Amino acid sequence: MSSSSSSSFDVLVVGAGLSGLYQLHQLRERGLRVRGLEAGTDVAGTWYWNRYPGARCDSTAECYQYWFSDELLNEWNWSERYPAQAETERYLNYVADKFDLRRDIQFNTRVSAADFVAATGRWTLTTQTGEHFDAQFLVLATGGLSTPALPSIAGFETFQGSSFHTGRWPHEGLDFTGKRVGVIGTGATGIQVIQTIAPQVEHLTVFQRTATYAIPMRNPEYDAARMAELRQSYPAMKELVHNTFTGNDYDFGTVLFSDLTPAEREERLWTYWRDGSLKFWVGAFGELFADQTVNDYVSDFVRARIRERVQDPQLAAKLSPKDYGFGTRRVPLESGYFETFNRANVTLVDTTETPLECFTATGIKTRAGEHALDVMIFATGFDAGTGALTAIDIRGREGLLLRAAWAQDGVRAWLGLQVHGFPNMFMIMAPLSPAAAFCNVPTCSQQQADWIANCITHTRAQGSKSIEPSAQAEAAWGEHHDELANATLVPKTKSWYMGTNIAGKPRRLLAYVGGASTYRHACDKVAAEGYRDSVFS
Ligand code: NAP
Repeated sequence: MSSSSSSSFDVLVVGAGLSGLYQLHQLRERGLRVRGLEAGTDVAGTWYWNRYPGARCDSTAECYQYWFSDELLNEWNWSERYPAQAETERYLNYVADKFDLRRDIQFNTRVSAADFVAATGRWTLTTQTGEHFDAQFLVLATGGLSTPALPSIAGFETFQGSSFHTGRWPHEGLDFTGKRVGVIGTGATGIQVIQTIAPQVEHLTVFQRTATYAIPMRNPEYDAARMAELRQSYPAMKELVHNTFTGNDYDFGTVLFSDLTPAEREERLWTYWRDGSLKFWVGAFGELFADQTVNDYVSDFVRARIRERVQDPQLAAKLSPKDYGFGTRRVPLESGYFETFNRANVTLVDTTETPLECFTATGIKTRAGEHALDVMIFATGFDAGTGALTAIDIRGREGLLLRAAWAQDGVRAWLGLQVHGFPNMFMIMAPLSPAAAFCNVPTCSQQQADWIANCITHTRAQGSKSIEPSAQAEAAWGEHHDELANATLVPKTKSWYMGTNIAGKPRRLLAYVGGASTYRHACDKVAAEGYRDSVFS
């Protein structure tokens, strides 16, 4: 395509990760002319960019997949309960090949602007290289955690070593042999990197600002017998994941903390702990999300597990979260993370005691002195939810810029799917939906993509030029979102869930906390009632 050419479609889907691929397929199945636009050189989104050492899924393989094709479910074999990045990337490539999705995707194409043209009711997209595309509908499947966040540390440009953000990891990989490596960040990503590279590096210095509660991952291999067993359970599981809070195959327990004796509470926590999954987070005592007493109890239990594994009690204390409750930020699974700090070649620097001051040519300086480094790894997270959307100049009716509208009004998004003033625009995994943080991504992104495909089909079938949510419906959803959020303990804790990891981002819970199942019912009701909260023109 030449840089001045214009290409016309029914729908443009931005992003060819897990959500975008599925959306493309679903729309194409409905006979629509669709084009996918993807910044990377290939499919897989998160699993394409985040190829850092130790990257691994912490939803189980059987829940982290597509449900739309029985053939696919029968053909694809997972090798373990929590597949590594390369396996999930292979899976998404397999899907792209099997359903011939690549023929409708243009790679190496970063969208820089999207303009709604009121006269035609269509969107014009402009890419960084000046190409233009036009379509009636726009679906932004740009990922909730796709815009890397880098800390602002003075003197970075003077550092002579190499540096990498985990979300932009080099495809050729890195050899850490003989290297002095620093890692900033101890969230889900940092934990995976740290526990993986510690045995490979000469010395590892971990710069921790906030300690993390984490659960030991139990990751058995899946052989043919296990896969056969799982396949038997797929039909029921496909139903189940859409009917739980997190879109996984487990839910809040029905047993109440207050009904149990101390011994019974302990036993219940141990049972869930030994499962080696995120079930411990949600399933053991769901009250921990709103009841401070229960939360304190569970937090103490997890801190005790850290003390058991770290030999030096002072180090164990530093690695134990103190100022926030278990489960109020994302809980990672880990494999030997805490034991990593028993190694002679690993140093923990608590940056609350000795803050990072500046980079030098040979390393990084804290208040206590310089740490010499050959490589610096930024496991510093993402501008979650809004980052990928506000990075594009999206202009709706009357030239309203999405970035400016959200800066002025706060994020507003009806069902987290559409924004008033931006007709025919849909978002997957965007703020104010569970998919933004509290849902197993495949479950919620497939649900959202199905809803979007149905909504587009409905709009076209009734001959409407455009659809957008009413301002009232959008405001009501925002109020409902905030009311539920503020009834939990989550807003008390600083994290990307609350937007506090990005300077200047308003503190507000990003994801809808009513649960994936409740959310799906809300979306289904809207569709069943003919999208009555929407304005058609
Ligand atoms: P994150 O949870 O936002 O963690 C970023 C880390 O960087 C935090 O420890 C943060 O400290 C630290 N940090 C940032 N700026 C810093 C600074 N200037 N000085 C010191 N420390 C700084 O990001 P993430 O670990 O990339 O994870 C993001 C999300 O991706 C996860 O929560 C999860 O949903 C997803 N993820 C999933 C998997 C999986 O499935 N296994 C793996 C990786 C990621 P503070 O906490 O003090 O801000």
